[in-house]
Amino acid sequence: MSIHEECGVFGVFSKKKINASDLTYYGLFSLQHRGQESCGIVVNDDGLFVSHKDLGLVTEVMTKDVMQKFPLGKMAVGHCRYGTTGGNDRANCQPIEVNHKKGRLAIAHNGNISNAILIRDKLEEDGAIFHTTSDTETIAYLVTRHRLESSSIEEAILKSVEELEGAFSICFMSPTKLIAVRDPHGFRPLCYGTFENDGEEVYVVSSESCALEAVGAKFVRDIKPGEMVVFSNDGVKSYEDLCGSKEISSCIFENIYFARPDSVIDGLSVHESRYKAGRILAKEFPAQADLVVGVPDSGLDAALGYAHESSIPYGIGLIKNKYIGRTFIAPASDGRSRLVRMKLAPVESAIKGKSIVLIDDSIVRGTTSKEIIDMLRQAGASQIHMRISAPPFLNPCYYGTDIDSRDNLIAVSHTVEGICQIIGADSLGFLPVESLPQLTGAKGICAACFTGQYPTPIHDGNRKDRFDKRLSEKE
Ligand code: AMP
Repeated sequence: MSIHEECGVFGVFSKKKINASDLTYYGLFSLQHRGQESCGIVVNDDGLFVSHKDLGLVTEVMTKDVMQKFPLGKMAVGHCRYGTTGGNDRANCQPIEVNHKKGRLAIAHNGNISNAILIRDKLEEDGAIFHTTSDTETIAYLVTRHRLESSSIEEAILKSVEELEGAFSICFMSPTKLIAVRDPHGFRPLCYGTFENDGEEVYVVSSESCALEAVGAKFVRDIKPGEMVVFSNDGVKSYEDLCGSKEISSCIFENIYFARPDSVIDGLSVHESRYKAGRILAKEFPAQADLVVGVPDSGLDAALGYAHESSIPYGIGLIKNKYIGRTFIAPASDGRSRLVRMKLAPVESAIKGKSIVLIDDSIVRGTTSKEIIDMLRQAGASQIHMRISAPPFLNPCYYGTDIDSRDNLIAVSHTVEGICQIIGADSLGFLPVESLPQLTGAKGICAACFTGQYPTPIHDGNRKDRFDKRLSEKE
């Protein structure tokens, strides 16, 4: 079961036929930071689904030839996926499509269902056969089963989400409807926007608002936690308080690292939260320095905040190769360190002889920070004061963020001083856990990867290692 999944979802609804595949292509391209492993588009041509999905980036998978084969359609859904451990094969590419007794369904899901293995166990005992290891297939199965005894697809989805625990921001497409659903905790973002085409409103659903801009749509609003919004020829219909009201637990790591800084999640700019984190770091961990340098890209906004608060000038001390993706996963640590050097290079003229405050968004294993500090010292930096715009990672995430196993999290086995020594910094400061709520204002957050306090029950049977073991033990 794919516990480590970070994804982007996108959907289009129009009353008249439009180039829904192109719109989805542009949307997914703007959500590429949410998943680089595979992608897919399903176009709805009057109830006939035409799809293409494969491993690779949007520009690699959706070639000119592929795009030309898509028909015009009133609807489309798309997905980009970043499944990391296991399960990274074609079968797990999304959107998942199912043909059932009452029609067709395509599903694009971002998040992780924390009781998926328990649900799947029950379904399998009832005779269900699964083709993938993805929890999205479990959702698909639940919905199609409920659809048999429901009068509408909405009713089937409402019944299904009652059974789900964990994180889900989903875009469903039936022959006649586009349906966006967000779990009651609101772990992952989901919003919609609109633009006018030929006198009709076209609706666009997206994981992040940055992709709405990309297709020329105006942001309308976030899908609320625990809300289902149905787009159909009858207009836009909202169903609220799905699964009863729950505490809002929006993933703070979206604000710290994952989302694009130009996105606005639940009314709050991602750039602003990172900027605030930088200001907090400057107050909590001041440093005598000549220059504040952010690690591109996710350290830049916090570095600006630190520079503002401390009045130390902000400088461009590191350049990122634009053509490299996110390099979080590499098979061995020497591979990873090479990747860091492929990705980043120091600007010697800016840093030589200077004392530097270096800001990055997180330390996972410590490899990146160590490499960057080595590079900056070789380029002549006199001192390096490392500041991290997140608290130390201590716990796994069951809601869709890829956090390495505890054995690899440097903060699990080392003190801050110990980490500082390993990475070779002159000083080190992490964003205090207590300051996290300040990043998002009044909104409730999930910070379980830092605190270990999970907003939903965690079922031991849902652990990925157990699931993999069970699969390999099967004949
Ligand atoms: P490490 O070298 O293992 O300490 O990893 C730290 C780097 O990984 C930081 O520069 C982060 O920007 C990046 N990072 C942290 N968390 C994630 C994640 N969940 N997915 C991808 N990259 C990440």
